[in-house]
Amino acid sequence: MLEGKSAIVTGSLDGIGHAIAQALARKGCAVMLNGFGPEDLVRERVAGLRGLGSDAHYHGADLSEPSQIEDLVAAAQQRYGRVDIVVNNAVTRFDAEIEALPVDKWSYALAVNLSAAFHLIRLTLPGMKRRNWGRIISLASIFGVEGTPRRTDYVVTKHGLVGMTKVVALECAEYDITCNALCPGAVYTPHLKQLIAQRAAAAGQPVEDTAAAFLGPRQPSRRFIEPERVGALAAFLCSDDARDITGTPIPIDGGWQARA
Ligand code: NAD
Repeated sequence: MLEGKSAIVTGSLDGIGHAIAQALARKGCAVMLNGFGPEDLVRERVAGLRGLGSDAHYHGADLSEPSQIEDLVAAAQQRYGRVDIVVNNAVTRFDAEIEALPVDKWSYALAVNLSAAFHLIRLTLPGMKRRNWGRIISLASIFGVEGTPRRTDYVVTKHGLVGMTKVVALECAEYDITCNALCPGAVYTPHLKQLIAQRAAAAGQPVEDTAAAFLGPRQPSRRFIEPERVGALAAFLCSDDARDITGTPIPIDGGWQARA
């Protein structure tokens, strides 16, 4: 159980981040939500988590801005008196071959996908060390351990998160503080649903056929991973039973990595 603990989950209004926020909330954890979205969605998400018993709040920090990340951490510390769990989940993606990747998109991806995790960890770790308890989880990807074309920003930042995870885990190894990266395969989030729907429309195909064609060469299970499964894994990593799991890129990918 996570009563008395508090978490920051970035990019958590929808998708995997929200599933993780819900899983932590169900364990009694206070959650500071973050991410871009309309006000009514923010209200709905905060109310939903409160309905699960969590002292939930929202901070709209733009994670590309270090000063706003500082503000996010300060707000959580002020509200809860502590930050015990950090989930680096927010992401930006740009689909292009490297020479066509706009320089500003590259810089933005480094800031949101990678530097934001650096700032969140550096700002919250001193408190975790003082209390000798902390859990840091970064959403990497299957593409944190393997490459794919047209996704330099994504692949590089996800590999970077895996590297950061290892360093932080080693630096915290003698504390009850763990740092892990999750490496999902294809998770059926709003983002992926939209991508599949667009491809189906472009090909004039049923969504089910497009989904099957998408999964076939990638995910041996041939089924999408539900965001709630990633949430459950994250909640387990935040439990005391998981205290000796650290520094690891953990697959949740229907067997995808087994092919490597
Ligand atoms: P998503 O695209 O649905 O959500 C990303 C979130 O990040 C959004 O809430 C968005 O508002 C937020 N965000 C983007 N830029 C931001 C900024 N500058 N400041 C604050 N918030 C910002 O993501 P998802 O598909 O649910 O994936 C969540 C995580 O899991 C990501 O790190 C992603 O790379 C990883 N992942 C997803 C899949 C998948 O199949 N969906 C697979 C592997 C890994």
